[in-house]
Amino acid sequence: MHKSIIIGTGPAGLTAAIYLARANMSPLVIEGPQPGGQLTTTTEVENFPGFPEGIMGPELMDNMRKQAERFGAEFRTGWVENVDLSQRPFKLNVEGMGELVTDTLIISTGASAKYLGIPGEEENVGMGVSTCATCDGFFFRGKEIIVVGGGDSALEEANFLTRFATKVTLVHRRNEMRASKIMQDRARQNPKIEWALDRTPLEVVKGENGLQGLLVRNNETGEDQLIEASGVFVAIGHHPNTGFLNGQITTDANGYIAVTPGTTETNIPGVFACGDVQDTRYRQAITAAGSGCSAAMDAERFIESLEFAQAAAEAVV
Ligand code: NAP
Repeated sequence: MHKSIIIGTGPAGLTAAIYLARANMSPLVIEGPQPGGQLTTTTEVENFPGFPEGIMGPELMDNMRKQAERFGAEFRTGWVENVDLSQRPFKLNVEGMGELVTDTLIISTGASAKYLGIPGEEENVGMGVSTCATCDGFFFRGKEIIVVGGGDSALEEANFLTRFATKVTLVHRRNEMRASKIMQDRARQNPKIEWALDRTPLEVVKGENGLQGLLVRNNETGEDQLIEASGVFVAIGHHPNTGFLNGQITTDANGYIAVTPGTTETNIPGVFACGDVQDTRYRQAITAAGSGCSAAMDAERFIESLEFAQAAAEAVV
């Protein structure tokens, strides 16, 4: 029986672990298939406060983990197969660990960026291929960049990346964009953005030093064409990692966990959500870490209220 279990070890989960461990709540932290979360797929993180020279993503996550361990957080690796949140204490079935039982649950399983699944993409993630313009745009100062996608994210990233790049080519598989009109208008007015519509991405092509570009097929003519660029930003959406919840928690229309605004409380008392699994707007390491702190404090208060209620009941008996 645990007081608190945290699922996920990105900045949100690890910050929650630091705070709960330091409050003597002995959290159990379950690491999934990608310990450290999305930051372990990026190189240098330059915008996390406290590191004026920047810090490598994996090192930052390793530091957070050590900090949580220092205060007594316990880490175990396993895939959460399913959870039963119908009553407290909550039950979790974790591969290789059997059933775990807890008074509070913090869900920080993040969201995964969608990838194209084309040759050359996976092996160049962090080395020219990125899914985060805010994180990696700076590294392409004075270079040419490709953004793939036709939604608001793609256009927002394309606009943002023109701050650094000499040219941004937007590659989209259809002639029509999914993005809102205002985002399209803004991008159309940006002289640094070129359009490669109705093009299907085929392969990320590596050059001698970094990327050479993206091979695409012109859907109208059937011709293949290499669009040269040093960076390829894939902006075709994210999906929140909530499959194991099996619909037991209220989400928004896109599957992100709904929390009471200004808190990390879900619709189930004692279950809290933090980080990208509940954030469609900011999706930054620092905002995830901040919400992880909030989740720990919300869980701590919840446990205190349980203990208070139990003590009061015993006093009556
Ligand atoms: P999205 O709206 O789902 O758009 C994804 C885009 O990627 C679509 O254009 C889609 O093409 C394309 N795509 C998907 N899979 C692909 C594949 N395998 N190969 C090539 N292209 C592929 O995702 P999003 O842009 O991340 O936006 C998600 C939500 O956040 C939306 O509701 C959006 O409005 C919101 N958002 C808002 C803002 C803002 O208001 N500032 C900024 C970002 C996001 P098709 O169109 O052909 O399907």
